[in-house]
Amino acid sequence: MLRALDTSLLLTPNEVAAYSPAVKTAGLKAGLWSATECTVSPRQTIPQLAEYLEKELDVVFQFGSAITHVDTGILSDFYDIWRAERIFICSGADFETLYPRIFQESGITKCKLQMLRTNTQPNSWQLGPSLCAGLTLLHYSSFAHLKSLESVRDRYNQENPDFARYGVHVLVSQNHSGEIILGDSHEYGWDVSPFDSEEINQLILNYLQTFAQFPDAVIAETWHGVYPKLPGKTDFVMEAEKGVWIVNGLSGAGMTMSFGLASEIV
Ligand SMILES: Cc1cc2nc3c(=O)[nH]c(=O)nc-3n(C[C@H](O)[C@H](O)[C@H](O)COP(=O)(O)OP(=O)(O)OC[C@H]3O[C@@H](n4cnc5c(N)ncnc54)[C@H](O)[C@@H]3O)c2cc1C
Repeated sequence: MLRALDTSLLLTPNEVAAYSPAVKTAGLKAGLWSATECTVSPRQTIPQLAEYLEKELDVVFQFGSAITHVDTGILSDFYDIWRAERIFICSGADFETLYPRIFQESGITKCKLQMLRTNTQPNSWQLGPSLCAGLTLLHYSSFAHLKSLESVRDRYNQENPDFARYGVHVLVSQNHSGEIILGDSHEYGWDVSPFDSEEINQLILNYLQTFAQFPDAVIAETWHGVYPKLPGKTDFVMEAEKGVWIVNGLSGAGMTMSFGLASEIV
């Protein structure tokens, strides 16, 4: 009997199968299940979040303009000037427009991630919880203190050193349209290539098929995202001028951590 209210459980392969029909249980030793994971679909959430903030908190959004100049108490998009007591610059991976020298000196870099999406799965098929497997234990530093991780690393380096070279680990989730979202890879550097590598997409799919399968595996869409990464740090917060704060560098955890950081800073 599964205790659904526990926050995390060690599951037998049969129990894993009860949580998700996608998991390949042949050869599986065990699974970890967490009740605190939450999947957010950015295409749905971001417009809804803006709508919510406009309605509930009278936030005014000014889409489609780039701020090109900031100083204490003022910001401007070349045409108009706004005044504000406190200014927070959350410019993501755009290090070039505002305070480029500060970004250059900070040690921050960019990370390019390749992603894939299937079509809507047939017959309302449900993935269940989001899935990941062994490579994910190597990717997130929360697991870095585990001594047993070395043998996991050795195993994957022997199986395919390209997993480590391209920072591949696989997260599988399903969105509100029934599509399966798959990713990702991690390539670091200020110059982000606009061209995606089919080899990397295949690495992601090859690893995926070692632990999961879906009724419709056809890939409908591929793309890449870019986020800022400050190695060894969880964020980059700096007062660039009096009352002007740069808040950046949330890396691959911004969807999770940014609300906490915002409430701490504001
Ligand atoms: C593929 C991918 C998968 C991810 N998966 C996860 C995940 O599973 N969990 C998680 O927690 N996080 C995840 N993240 C990370 C998360 O998306 C980021 O940490 C988060 O989006 C950072 O938020 P931000 O507001 O700092 O920057 P961004 O979301 O990058 O927003 C910055 C915005 O500022 C705008 N801007 C820049 N310069 C200017 C200017 N001069 N004037 C006006 N506007 C400007 C940009 O156009 C952009 O809209 C993922 C990121 C990617 C790319």
